[in-house]
Amino acid sequence: MTKVERTEQEWRARLTPQQYHVLREKGTEPPFSGLYERVFEPGSYRCAGCGAELFDSDAKYDSGCGWPAFSQPATAGAVEEQLDTSHGLVRTEVLCARCGGHLGHVFRDGPAPSGLRYCINSAALTLERR
Ligand code: FE
Repeated sequence: MTKVERTEQEWRARLTPQQYHVLREKGTEPPFSGLYERVFEPGSYRCAGCGAELFDSDAKYDSGCGWPAFSQPATAGAVEEQLDTSHGLVRTEVLCARCGGHLGHVFRDGPAPSGLRYCINSAALTLERR
């Protein structure tokens, strides 16, 4: 995979302030506020930073947590995981494998068979409907 690298200035020019805050500053949108939290239409969720295919609507489910939730990424290599000990918590951060953008976190309270809940900010995603 060809990695996407841009300067902070380039990211600021390409992204909305909210997208920049989430993707480049590891921000979190307020719960139940995001564009895709209540959307269950068929399509592909791409990275709002670089366009990489990250999640598919087939794996999207209503977790009730306030953010879009997926049981698995679109492909095994689409996202990367990293230990996050910020805010006094031990969590697993999820990043776009292509541009390194912060997407959200993955928790082990998802539905079978994966048992995973990828809790992802709407601001980090762009839905390509099909
Ligand atoms: Fe990306």
